[in-house]
Amino acid sequence: MSAGLHEAARLVSGGGVLVLTGAGMSEEAGIPTFRDPGGLWDRFDPSEFGTWQGLAGLATRRPDDLAEFLAALRRALAGARPGPGHVALARLEEAGLVEAVVTQNVDGLHQEARSRRVIEIHGSFLRHRCLRCGRTDTVTRDEVCEGLERAVVGLRQAFVPSFESILPRCSWCGGPARPDFVAFGETLRDFEEAERLATECRVLLAVGTSGEVFPAASLPETARSAGARVVVIAAGPTAVAADVVIQGKAGEVLPRLAEASLAAKD
Ligand code: NAD
Repeated sequence: MSAGLHEAARLVSGGGVLVLTGAGMSEEAGIPTFRDPGGLWDRFDPSEFGTWQGLAGLATRRPDDLAEFLAALRRALAGARPGPGHVALARLEEAGLVEAVVTQNVDGLHQEARSRRVIEIHGSFLRHRCLRCGRTDTVTRDEVCEGLERAVVGLRQAFVPSFESILPRCSWCGGPARPDFVAFGETLRDFEEAERLATECRVLLAVGTSGEVFPAASLPETARSAGARVVVIAAGPTAVAADVVIQGKAGEVLPRLAEASLAAKD
């Protein structure tokens, strides 16, 4: 076992762990990260495709480009299943070592792996929010993919009178609904709770996050200022300042970390 993994397991085995996950957590599940070479933002300009207004404008001005983006999203979400890393985190929570997972991901994979306390600060694709009455509906991965497919077909085949015409419908009032993710420039969800957990944790374990998307990227520093130790697992470069850095893929490192932490706890 490497010295980093040994030290991380020693820290995690003491409990009080808050996990912060980013796009790298789901990379092995088939969902590309945004910033790595070949990621989504390499192909689609975030100032257009990452904002709600940008998407709305594209629907009528450049429907083919929007269709290509939504088709790429659909492909990624359709095949995604929780990996060994997601399962290892759920196991650590079950054992009482992990308090909660704060995730920047919008793919619902932590819940699918049976993590119980998941704070989705960037929202979720597995919820729709009605733009008319404000109701939120939980939707399945299949329903999300069907909705994306309908939008892609609509954009490619017909004249699109408005962005609203390709959105899913609210189950309550029939109004247009949007996937409940936080686009660039929008307010984060439950961030006060995430900050409170960061100030209370013993260890902050950051997995697969570049540390470039604020304010989520401030959480490790919030934890460290309150006295916590910071452990980072990342396959590539990350801006998160840490006490222990383990280079490697989440799906390979986390199961080993969980095994070693649970052994050290007993
Ligand atoms: P990012 O794309 O900026 O950075 C990903 C980080 O993960 C990098 O440091 C990279 O080296 C590392 N990484 C890549 N593959 C890995 C692996 N297999 N194991 C461990 N580490 C790996 O991601 P970010 O910092 O989370 O920010 C991107 C933003 O985009 C987030 O705010 C998130 O909301 C959104 N996003 C979400 C998803 C998703 O829901 N799955 C996917 C892409 C982007």
